[in-house]
Amino acid sequence: MHDIVYFWISENSTLSEILQDTREILTDILENKSVSHEEAVHLYLHAATEDLMRVADIIRKSKHPEGVVSWIIDRNVNISNICVSGCKFCNFHKSARSVEAYITRIEEYDEKIDVLYKLGGDQLLLQGGCNPNLDIRWYENLFFSLKSKHPNLKLHALGPPEVAYIAEISAISIQDTLQRLIAAGLDSLPGAGAEILSDRVRNIISPAKCNSQTWLKVMVEAHRQGLTTSATMMFGHIETPEERITHLELIRDVQEKRPRGAPGFISFIPWPFQSSGTTLIKEFPDIQKIQPVEYIRLIAISRIILHNIPNIQASWLTVGPEAASICLHAGANDLGSIMIEENVVSSAGATYVINANGMENLIRKTGFIPVRRNQHFEFISTKFGA
Ligand code: SF4
Repeated sequence: MHDIVYFWISENSTLSEILQDTREILTDILENKSVSHEEAVHLYLHAATEDLMRVADIIRKSKHPEGVVSWIIDRNVNISNICVSGCKFCNFHKSARSVEAYITRIEEYDEKIDVLYKLGGDQLLLQGGCNPNLDIRWYENLFFSLKSKHPNLKLHALGPPEVAYIAEISAISIQDTLQRLIAAGLDSLPGAGAEILSDRVRNIISPAKCNSQTWLKVMVEAHRQGLTTSATMMFGHIETPEERITHLELIRDVQEKRPRGAPGFISFIPWPFQSSGTTLIKEFPDIQKIQPVEYIRLIAISRIILHNIPNIQASWLTVGPEAASICLHAGANDLGSIMIEENVVSSAGATYVINANGMENLIRKTGFIPVRRNQHFEFISTKFGA
């Protein structure tokens, strides 16, 4: 698996020489010197975990010196489970002919929003997939209806593959699609569907979904239009370590080019592939589950490479609260939302649950001050109704 980087390491390198190399690279990073792709891969593969954690923690402290860890209350609602993409890691999608296929009715949103408001949240995370019957006018109607009935509601909705797909079936540009979605009520764009930004990988795990350049193009346009976005990575399947690093570098480079004053990617959220029952694990039964230490290393290297993204989120939902809390000492400063409803990764094996009290206790136990935030990472009242 690691052959791809062996060329970089002399066959005669000793362990102490490798550790010396990695410490020199980490020192360069702390001195704000740029690091090459090969150096970043070498670091990811060979640095001692405690060294990676220590440097990532120093960088986190420099960006968040208050000792706080943020979290949010939002509600995940799936617009529809009808999707033509057929990603091999996804157990959630159904064909339009399936008896389990649905499109969420507007009255169901109302019920879910009532529960969200009672818990103290004000944001829906709306995701759906690529449904060939839902074009731009359908989404405009949905967003307008939700916003006119619930004027304080925030919509963190869709993702680059869905935006590209809506543009395609509506025969309009990505630019127009985003403009119309924003006018209809889109507040921020999740970084969903990034998986690994390598077309070698995407052609195997999600061949019908947009390619990596289209994913990045949607984000560049979203940044140009001033939308707050996030970036993600789903790793631990068929990608190489070098492809993980390239993914981080592509995101860092798009962030670097965002217009002056635009928030761009406000956060980065990696999570490990949840394999249970997926086509991908049937095709590649040798895929090994990501262990907590591998997740912690990925969080640390993300904080180190993504120097221009302010917030790194640990995914407690997929790795569990214990591993996520260790990530707070490895560069992460955010734990995302308590989970009121989630159907995609939980349909592939993620089973952890945290309520608002549990979230605050977890953060305090780890030595940080819990602070609730909104999608723009503005701190809000810590009062909640859970
Ligand atoms: S991951 Fe998203 S785009 Fe892929 S099949 Fe599932 S719902 Fe569709």
